[in-house]
Amino acid sequence: PPLYIQRYNKVLEILSTLKPEKVVDFGCAECKFINLLRREEYVIEICGVDLDGNLLSESSFKLEPLASDFLYLRHNPLTIRLYQGSVSEFDTRLRNFDAVVCIELIEHLLPKTLKDFPKTVFSCIQPKHVIISTPNSDFNVHFNLNGSFRHWDHKFEWTREQFKSWCEGICTKYHYSVVFDGVGTAPENRPSFGHCSQFAI
Ligand code: SAM
Repeated sequence: PPLYIQRYNKVLEILSTLKPEKVVDFGCAECKFINLLRREEYVIEICGVDLDGNLLSESSFKLEPLASDFLYLRHNPLTIRLYQGSVSEFDTRLRNFDAVVCIELIEHLLPKTLKDFPKTVFSCIQPKHVIISTPNSDFNVHFNLNGSFRHWDHKFEWTREQFKSWCEGICTKYHYSVVFDGVGTAPENRPSFGHCSQFAI
């Protein structure tokens, strides 16, 4: 499957072991991940947050119940909410969420927003679990980028070492622990520069 689907599958795989009831998806964009997550029986509340309110308005139709949802009722009713907002500011409606997901979000944040992000997530929301994915720039040797980033809106792309040190700084400050994972493997017979997308959990 394409890389973005591999990312969604990885997050679903991780969440299925943790079974959080309430999940925030920061930078939910077109709500594609929420559209998959809403099929999981363990979830009872999903909140999608994105800076781009127009994108949320255009995408919300995807999350309407399907005809089959009325035929085969879930065990637990599910509530989905979409909010326009930034990860740099705490929204009190995000209290008591068990997990926060940020798929390919942090590399789009300006320095000030990136600086404020850990406080919002790890101090204000304080979820049990956080899953963050971002491009692994070590892997860029496999692309012909000529020093540029993979996407025009990326503010940075971190090596595995840079991502690790950012995560470990957060863990020390807010008393969390972290493990790393990834999706997207290199072509065989090329040296390993890690995964295409790196994950911190
Ligand atoms: N998570 C999505 C997915 O995997 O399908 C893709 C994320 S897209 C690459 C980055 C998203 O982050 C955009 O929709 C953008 O509007 C949003 N974004 C950028 N800055 C943000 C901020 N400060 N707070 C919340 N969302 C933000």
